[in-house]
Amino acid sequence: MNNQAELISIGNELLSGRTLNTHGQDLGGALTAIGLQLMRDTTIPDEIPIIGSAVQEALARTNLVFVSGGLGPTVDDITRDALALLLGQAIVFDQPTVDHLEGWFAKRGRTLNPAGKRQALVLEGATVLPNSIGAAPGQRFDLPDGKTLFVLPGPPNEFNAILNEEIVPWLKERYAGARPTLVRIVRTKGIGESDIVTILEAENFNPKDVALGFYPAMGKVEIRLTAEPDHEVSVSAAEQTLLHLLAAFLDPES
Ligand code: ATP
Ligand code: MG
Repeated sequence: MNNQAELISIGNELLSGRTLNTHGQDLGGALTAIGLQLMRDTTIPDEIPIIGSAVQEALARTNLVFVSGGLGPTVDDITRDALALLLGQAIVFDQPTVDHLEGWFAKRGRTLNPAGKRQALVLEGATVLPNSIGAAPGQRFDLPDGKTLFVLPGPPNEFNAILNEEIVPWLKERYAGARPTLVRIVRTKGIGESDIVTILEAENFNPKDVALGFYPAMGKVEIRLTAEPDHEVSVSAAEQTLLHLLAAFLDPES
């Protein structure tokens, strides 16, 4: 079982520039913290054939696929139809969710209408993941080949609530052996990336088992060293070498 995941974010508004897609950042952070890797974040429009092919391709590549958006009551909320078609699965009402929605509306002096009730529709056979702050629940669909598809609502607070309350605990149990990637950060100031690289190349700085990332912003460059959990010694040594080579340019505020 590999530790890799993919996210498919669905919504025309994410592609038109109306809405900043925040799910990749939130999911990437949550997975990284427990030692899993988000390998791709694909953003696609609200179109059934594109949703179907994107999910199919992601499932062919990886064991864990997260799909977000399009679970609400409106005409553009077509995610469950697209998934039902792809998986050859019926869509059914989840009675506990219907009861929950009826209670939620009743408390506010409203009645659940047929459109609102659509949010309780799930893929037959899916495990329903309660949404503690919104209407449409998340779903976990276990495929016969051992792969897992998570389906989550679009609003970021609901996406994160289900992710943190329902999915992360499940993943921690399923991937109990996973250990987070090691990360060391060296922050510089007053030196550009090309000058940093020149110094590092002159000293043949090319640490084994350690990946380097350079993140420039506003006259500063953050250098991130990452390594698999077994390479603590390598990553610490690389960090010390960098601190030494770039001693004249370390950011005093870091
Ligand atoms: P709802 O029941 O609220 O309709 P939904 O599951 O159908 O939820 P969408 O209709 O796709 O989700 O999106 C609901 C809201 O969440 C919209 O305002 C949308 O812009 C926002 N949203 C959706 N996906 C993302 C994302 N990846 N990043 C940030 N915001 C998002
Ligand atoms: Mg919607």
